[in-house]
Parts: sequence; structure tokens; C-alpha cells
Amino acid sequence: MSSIKKKIVFLGGSSVGKSSILLRFTNNQFQEGQEPNVGASFLTKELSIENLKYKLQIWDTAGQERYSSMAPMYYRSASGAIIVYDITDSESFITAKKWVKELQQMGPIDVKMAIVGNKVDLSNDRQVSIEEVKEYAESSGALFFETSAKTGKNVYELFRQLLTHLPKTNSKKKLD
Ligand code: GDP
Repeated sequence: MSSIKKKIVFLGGSSVGKSSILLRFTNNQFQEGQEPNVGASFLTKELSIENLKYKLQIWDTAGQERYSSMAPMYYRSASGAIIVYDITDSESFITAKKWVKELQQMGPIDVKMAIVGNKVDLSNDRQVSIEEVKEYAESSGALFFETSAKTGKNVYELFRQLLTHLPKTNSKKKLD
């Protein structure tokens, strides 16, 4: 059985944990003080969900944290977008909402968005309520999760649910 190829992009402000979520998902690891990555990079990950084989091309970048003319190239042909904020940083949710808007206006017409509040292990310092984001995500047609890259909470579930919401066909654009 050949695998379904999908491009997934991470978006969101700096230091919200994008690289850490990816590292948790791909290697089941966490590093305190994860080094900021420089420039766009992607990796591929294969996995099976409900008897379907997927080959994901997952993009993670430091360069997309501020708006730039490069952004549309970055999310072009993405099937899924994971927009991350930090639940202990209300500014980062404002940034996440800007990305949602940008994708709605400029992104692929059928891109499925997942809004992700990361660092839920630090919920004593919470600045963004679940209710607020849930409502926003529903009105935006996006999925919503709270994750912890540190403990691993909900990280696999995020990818699993995002993939089950995508069409079971290859991305139109050839990815490899
Ligand atoms: P990025 O800039 O969005 O890619 O963020 P990083 O993945 O580099 O993470 C920024 C900082 O937050 C690093 O020091 C991480 O170790 C830390 N971090 C990331 N995810 C979590 C989490 O779920 N919980 C906690 N407590 N720290 C996290």
C-alpha cells in the first residue's frame, strides 16, 4: 500500500514550543532550552493511523515568526497548519490569531488548521483560557488542542486528529 503524502507546517510566535512539539512527535524527546533553529527546515515522518500509511513532510522554522514576504512560499501547498501559542503568554495567542487570519486570506483554500496551546504543564501560570480559544477555534473552523511538549500530553493526538481531518489523497503538489 502506498502512503498518503501530506505537507504540514508549523506557525506561531517565537519560543512557544514549535520545535519542541516536533521533537516530541518525531523522537519522543524533550530538551530544556531547545536551541532556536535558524531558517526553514523540514523533516519527513512516516506513520500509520487507522490502517492508512502517511508520509508527512513537516516544516518548522524560525523565520516565519515575524511576517515576511517569504511566508506564502512556506505554507504553499500545505494540507495542515499547526498554529502554536504558549498558554502562559497571552501575547503569543494574539500572534497565533494573526496567523490564522493570514492563512484564511492567503493560504491554500483547503488547509486544515489546528490551534495549539502548548506548555500546559505550566498551567499555574496560565494567561489564556481554554474557553476563549475553544470559541475562537470553532468560529475559525480550526481544531483546538492543549499540549505539553515536555510531558508529551496530547502531542500524538494532535497529529492523529489533524490527519484524520485531511482528505485521504496525496497533496496535489509532488512533495519528494
Ligand atoms: P519555538 O521557538 O517555538 O520552536 O520554541 P522551542 O521549541 O525552541 O521552545 C522554547 C522554549 O520553551 C525551550 O526552552 C523549550 O524547552 C521550552 N518548551 C517547549 N515546550 C514546552 C512545554 O511543553 N513545557 C515547558 N515547560 N517548556 C517547553
